[in-house]
Amino acid sequence: MEDTIFGQIVRGEAPAYKVYEDKDTLAFLNIHPDSVGHTLVIPKVAARNIFDVDADTFTKVMQTVHDLAPKLRDALGASGMRIVINNEAEAGQVVFHIHVHLIPFYKNHAAEIPDGESLEEVATRITASLT
Ligand code: AMP
Repeated sequence: MEDTIFGQIVRGEAPAYKVYEDKDTLAFLNIHPDSVGHTLVIPKVAARNIFDVDADTFTKVMQTVHDLAPKLRDALGASGMRIVINNEAEAGQVVFHIHVHLIPFYKNHAAEIPDGESLEEVATRITASLT
């Protein structure tokens, strides 16, 4: 397995705006968000993508996605959410450590576009609502 930026985030060697963490998974904000609150959920163990990940690890990731999605929606005041996994470069995968995109959508579409609010502020808004 090649080392990736997400592996570095798991090991604490690279920074991330974490919004959730447990023993097996981690969720943090996408540094280039498609919408406010665009979050990535990853397993802590390295796996390239859906073609490589073992069922147990994938199940843990999807359990976190299932737990987090409604909480993110509520924390952000979103009304919808697109959930995506890109597998291999041909399908748009750029970081080769499996990750699930949670992309919030808003009734007021203007709210999707970052409005001067920093990622740190968005992460704080989410974590404050989760605790
Ligand atoms: P994908 O195209 O599915 O591989 O998506 C990779 C995503 O990771 C892109 O949307 C990037 O903006 C995002 N990304 C890359 N580096 C980082 C990082 N250090 N922290 C957070 N998100 C990142």
